[in-house]
Amino acid sequence: MKCSLCEKEAVREIPYMKLFLCREHFIDWFNQRFIRDAKRYKLFEKSKRVAVAVSGGKDSTTMLHLLNEVSKQLNIEIIGVTIDLGINNGTKYSSKSVEIAIDNFKIAQVEYKVIDLNKDYNFTIDRAKSRTNRPACSVCGLSKRYILNAAAEEMNADTLATGHNLDDMAQFIFSGYIYGNFESLARNSMINPPERGYKIKKVKPFFFTPENEILHYAILKGYPFIYDPCPYSSEFGSVAQERIGDMLKNMETKMPGMMINLVKTFEKQIRPALHNIYSKDEDVGKCKLCGRPTSNGRDICSFCSIKNKLIAAQLTNGL
Ligand SMILES: [Zn+2]
Ligand SMILES: [Zn+2]
Repeated sequence: MKCSLCEKEAVREIPYMKLFLCREHFIDWFNQRFIRDAKRYKLFEKSKRVAVAVSGGKDSTTMLHLLNEVSKQLNIEIIGVTIDLGINNGTKYSSKSVEIAIDNFKIAQVEYKVIDLNKDYNFTIDRAKSRTNRPACSVCGLSKRYILNAAAEEMNADTLATGHNLDDMAQFIFSGYIYGNFESLARNSMINPPERGYKIKKVKPFFFTPENEILHYAILKGYPFIYDPCPYSSEFGSVAQERIGDMLKNMETKMPGMMINLVKTFEKQIRPALHNIYSKDEDVGKCKLCGRPTSNGRDICSFCSIKNKLIAAQLTNGL
C-alpha cells in the first residue's frame, strides 16, 4: 500500500482517518497531532515546569521525548521522575525499568529524580504482596499517585504529565460504567487542575492517542523502553481489566474510531456531569504523619495508613 500523502510505501494504516502513512509522514502526523492536542485542550496553559512520570514503558518514554522536543514551542521546562517500586519477584522488573528510565533521562538531557520505595518509604510492592493479603495493584496505584505528587512538588514542578493512553482511558471508563465507580470516573480527566489540597496540575497528553500508534512510533524512533509487563499484571482483578481491554480493542478493529468516540463523549459530556455531582463540599484534611492532603477530613492519609500497616506486617511476619 502506498502512503496517502506521497509515493513511498506505507508503514502504518490509520483506519479511523482512512489514511496510509509512510515512516516520515507517520512520524510527522503523530508529532503534529501531539502539539495540536496540547494547544487545543490547553494542557500546559500557565505551566512552567513539567515533571514527566517515566516508568520505562513505551508510553511514558515516548511522552518524555515528545514533550522535551516541543518544550520550547509550549514554553515549558521538562524534568523527569521515576519510582523504584521494588517489583522484582524473580524478574528484576523494577530494576530494569528504573535503569531504562534513567537512560532516557540522560538521552533527553533532563534533570531527574529517582524515588526508591524501599529506601525512602521502607516497604516494597513485592513485600506488600508477600506479607499481606492486600492486592498488589491497589497498593502500587495508591503509592504511585502519592509519591509522584509529592516528588513533583519537591522538584518545584507545577505540572505532572503521565503516559496514560487512549486504550487505558477507554478501559478505565468502560469498567467504571460496569462496576459503578462513578466517583473515580468524575476525577479522571485529561487535565486535572490542582484541587483538594494538592498543588500540582495533572495532565495526560496521550488521552486520545491509541496505544498501538505509540508503540509503533517508539519503535520507529528507536527509544529504549521495557517491553515486559509487570509480573503482577496477571492477578485477579487485573485479569478482568485485561478482558475489558481486549474486548474494546476487538470492537475498535470492527468499528474504527469507536474508542476515540467513547473517550471524547466521556470527557466532553459525561465527566463534567459526574464532576458536578461528586465534587461538592469535600472536606480536605491534613495528614498528621506526613502533612499531605487527606480526603474526607481524615487525620491520616491513605498512603501513610497503608504504609504503616505494611511495615507492621513486615515486622510481625519477618522480612
Ligand atoms: Zn508519505
Ligand atoms: Zn500521610
